[in-house]
Parts: sequence; structure tokens; C-alpha cells
Amino acid sequence: MPQVALKTESLSLTKFHAHKIVKLMNIVRKKTRLIQVGDVPVGGDAPIVVQSMTNTPTDDVEATASQANELIEAGCEIIRVAVPDEAAAYALPALKRRIPAPLIADIHFDHRLALLAADQGADGLRINPGNLGGTDRLKKVIRKAKERGLAVRIGVNSGSLEKDLLAQKERSLADRMVESALRQVTLLEDWGFADYKISIKSSDVRTTLDAYRALSEKTDAPLHLGVTEAGSMTEGTIKSSIGIGMLLADGIGDTFRVSLTAPPIKEMRVAYGILRTLGIRERGVELVSCPTCGRCRVDLLSIVDDVERKLAHIRSPLKVAVMGCVVNGPGEAREADVGVAGGKGIGILFKKGERIRKIGEAELVDALVSEVESMTRDIDAGGP
Ligand code: SF4
Repeated sequence: MPQVALKTESLSLTKFHAHKIVKLMNIVRKKTRLIQVGDVPVGGDAPIVVQSMTNTPTDDVEATASQANELIEAGCEIIRVAVPDEAAAYALPALKRRIPAPLIADIHFDHRLALLAADQGADGLRINPGNLGGTDRLKKVIRKAKERGLAVRIGVNSGSLEKDLLAQKERSLADRMVESALRQVTLLEDWGFADYKISIKSSDVRTTLDAYRALSEKTDAPLHLGVTEAGSMTEGTIKSSIGIGMLLADGIGDTFRVSLTAPPIKEMRVAYGILRTLGIRERGVELVSCPTCGRCRVDLLSIVDDVERKLAHIRSPLKVAVMGCVVNGPGEAREADVGVAGGKGIGILFKKGERIRKIGEAELVDALVSEVESMTRDIDAGGP
């Protein structure tokens, strides 16, 4: 498969203006086929796209649109909604009017729901061919997607492999997952359908890595990354950061979702944290804080919690340091765009390396937040 180093400066899609796209370090991203999911390009030279899924009842239009918009505000570029019944499918037109991002209908078991969701205006379909009930039904869904110009994600999951593959216990699970995906790909290609991406997820990180790496060798379709059922905020963040992060570092993956048993908005922070750490894309505040130790004389844990919460709306990529004392504090705070180093019941505020002033502990959070906000206004206005 061809490998290309991305020319990131060429990625001037206005859609992505809020996200600074940074140099890809030494990551050589595999060149995949470009597809369109609504108006968002996925694969090829397009930026790696962050997506998520709402967890409200889809036919509760108010709740679903509100959660989707909160996700979009936090950087989500494609929204997926569950379509478990007709009511959810019929809610799609109203959702589309209120959600300014491509809307993917997530379908299991009942191919008729996929047909209905397509007719109701979904921008894409996520199906698991393993549970759709046969090739004829898959063909109907693909024919409909083709007719309506929709992208389809083939979502292979280690928990729902075809029976014959499940029985082949002597083969690795990753190997069987790849075969399952390629079987579907062969059908799609035979039917002349190319607007698909593939995911091949397991809740086991090593299986996920093996499966994606092997699949990436065998297809130029864009890949959607994820570690399925990753777990709680802590467990899921660890598994997703390692699973998705290692694949992205390999140059594999065109879009991804961090799955957490947590409010979906939390996925955005982890997603952009992964991208920032790898030097792929930047968005929002990178918060540097120390673990605290016996020298700390301010309540740093709650200060950091408050700062993180109050800066969650910032889009500009900025580094903010919140340090417990003067040992490493001034150094880190000077390195950051804005920082504080704690003292005894006080903090010393730094901005762009300059010591600004001393602030009482009670005012520390608000002072830091207002410095950051004024700095982002400066940045947006093209100032210092
Ligand atoms: Fe301890 Fe100070 Fe280091 Fe924080 S910055 S861990 S309080 S020495």
C-alpha cells in the first residue's frame, strides 16, 4: 500500500479552522481512499476525524440534538445515533435540521431500519454485516446507500463474528476478524460500492492492534479506529489511548471514537488529548499540573479540577500550567502560555514566561481563567 507523509499545511479545510493541525512528528500516515461522510472528508489527506455517539433516546429530539451540539462544540465532527426502532429513524429529519454535523445511523439486526434511516436523510450508516441476517439483506442496504450517495461503515466486532469463523478456534481472533471484514469488503467491491470505511474492534487492546495492523495491509479503505467496550473513564482512557494511540502512531486510522462508560462529552477531551500527544492535531487547553507532594501549600487538586472545567470551552491550542510550589512551578509556569506556581496560600501568575503578579488562593482559578480567556481573544484577533 502506498505510504505518504502528510503535507499538513495543505489541509486548509475551513471546517477544521478551530483545530490547529500540527506537524506529524515522525508519523507516516498510510494513504487511504478518500470518502465523504456528509460534508466531512474521511481518509486520503483529510485530517483525522473525531467522532462520537449520543446516548440519549434518539427519538427524544430535544435531548439528542442538545447532546450532539455539546459534542460538536467540544470538537466532535461526526455524530452517530442509535437507530434501534422506527421511531428513531423517523426522528432523523428533525435531528438533521438541528445538528450541524454529518449524522450516522447505527443499525443492528434489522436491515429495514437501515433502509428507512437512509430514506430519512442519514448521512451515513454504521452496520455490522455479521448481524444483519445474510448477504441479500446487506445487498439491499448497500444498494440503498449507493442510490442515496451515503457512506457506510462496516463495523466488525470480535463479539459478533460469523458462526463458521467463531468455530475456528485454532486461528487467532484478530485473524478471524480480518477475514470477516474482508469477506464483506469483497461483496461491497463486487457490487461496485466504494464509499465504505471499516472498523474492526475488540475490547482487548492487543487483539484490536493486531486486527487493525493486519487489515491495514490488505485494504486501502479508510479505517475507523476504536477499542470497543473500553470501560470506565479511567480504564477506557487507558485502553483507548494505548489502542488508538499506537495505531495512529503507526500511521493507521482516518477517524476514531473513544468509547467510554461516561458522558460522551468526556470522550472529546480524551480524543483531542490523544491527537495532541501524538502531535497530530491540537485543540483546546493542554493542562500541565504536578502530582503535588508534601511541599504543596495550596489545594491544588480542586484548583486543577476547577481550571479544567472552566477552560473546557477554549478552542485555541494553549498550554496552561498549574503547579504546586516553587520547586518546578516557576519553570513549568514560564514554559506555558499561562501558568501559576503555588506558594503558601498564594499563587504566582506567569504569562508567556513573564512573572505577572501574586494572587491569593481564593482568586487563583478566576484569575488564571480570565488570563487564558483574554489570551484566546488575543489569538483570535491575531494579537500577541
Ligand atoms: Fe511537589 Fe512542588 Fe513538584 Fe508539585 S511542583 S510535585 S508541590 S515539588
